[in-house]
Amino acid sequence: MSKADDDGDAVAPATQVTQAGRRAEWTGIPGQPGGVVNPPVWRASTILYDNVAHLRAARSNSHERWYYGRRGTPTHWALADALTEMEPGAVGTMLFPSGVAAISCALMAVLKPGDQLLMVDSVYDPTRAFCDKVLKPMGIETVYYDPLIGAGIATLMTERTRAVFMESPGSLTFEVQDVPAIVAAAKARDVVTLIDNTWATPLFFSAHGHGVDISILACTKYVTGHSDVMLGSVSANGALWPRIEQMGRLFGQICGADDAWLALRGLRTLGVRLKQHQDSALTVARWLAERPEVGTVLHPALPSCPGHAQWVRDFKGSSGLFSFTLAGAEDAARVRFIDALRHFGIGYSWGGFESLALPVDPQYCRSATIWNTPDPLIRLHIGLEDPNDLIADLELALHQI
Ligand SMILES: *Cc1c(COP(=O)(O)O)cnc(C)c1O
Repeated sequence: MSKADDDGDAVAPATQVTQAGRRAEWTGIPGQPGGVVNPPVWRASTILYDNVAHLRAARSNSHERWYYGRRGTPTHWALADALTEMEPGAVGTMLFPSGVAAISCALMAVLKPGDQLLMVDSVYDPTRAFCDKVLKPMGIETVYYDPLIGAGIATLMTERTRAVFMESPGSLTFEVQDVPAIVAAAKARDVVTLIDNTWATPLFFSAHGHGVDISILACTKYVTGHSDVMLGSVSANGALWPRIEQMGRLFGQICGADDAWLALRGLRTLGVRLKQHQDSALTVARWLAERPEVGTVLHPALPSCPGHAQWVRDFKGSSGLFSFTLAGAEDAARVRFIDALRHFGIGYSWGGFESLALPVDPQYCRSATIWNTPDPLIRLHIGLEDPNDLIADLELALHQI
């Protein structure tokens, strides 16, 4: 069914999200030409074989073969295949039960005791916790680096440096990294590069197109897009895919077929959703930037954001998540502001259709750099509501501080 399966048939991303992964073998109706649009939910643990010869013949290492439920079903393969197609340069995608599971398995796949990992200081806090609480006791050292280090990353590399992990923009503080400069420094020393590309998704930042070896998504966020699924993915280039696939299997990682199906359904509307998240978030961010109560707006598409020039150069768009400070305010004022919001939920995660507000305190999750802005920081996720309603809500709440 998928024209996108044909080599050389390059289409725009908006077209690609509607077609990727829709192989006839996964959507066909037995005994009849044609097929359904979406692959069915194949829930399976045991796969039954006709006889022992058939069972033995099925024993294969290849991906996308019926074998046992832990190896996935066409529902999983269709999603994994779609995510691979959306990252030209990647050859395969492994699915995980959460974004954190995807990140930790990718790190385990490329590191061994004695190695050193260079990790961006603005990384998602649970990624930092994995490095400090799992990798460190295994004898893998993590050196945190300034998110704005760029080509300077080379000065941190030693004989033991095995991998550089990026997240761009950074969690909570939105520094945009100089990915091409970091990739160039890593390639010169045969160091593996990984990126958490959750904020931009492959639609707004082409990780493998910028030379990154391994890209990771918390599909929990925009890919699924409806705040009802936990899911992660790791896509890798030809050199590293065998290690990612093997490590995922050794750890027994798989997600539920229903969740894979929901993520695939979400993916089909990712293009239009992201466009709206982008427009509404920019409208709100620009409005906030004009307000006297607001200090700095940390949105990669605004010049006030560290690394904005890199965003202009490398990204194709901006999504719905950003943060801002309340100028000269105390935490109590921040609490009153957030509690006064009526159209923003208060909760973790983001990437769904609904708006969210969260007090964030990056000073507690840094070690290589210092977050010394005294003003309290608030992270907003701008959902698919009418931005005018959101702005009216924010305006009323600002009166509370
Ligand atoms: C949420 C998030 C994750 C983790 O995803 P889960 O599915 O919640 O485990 C990883 N990276 C970033 C940038 C995130 O925002």
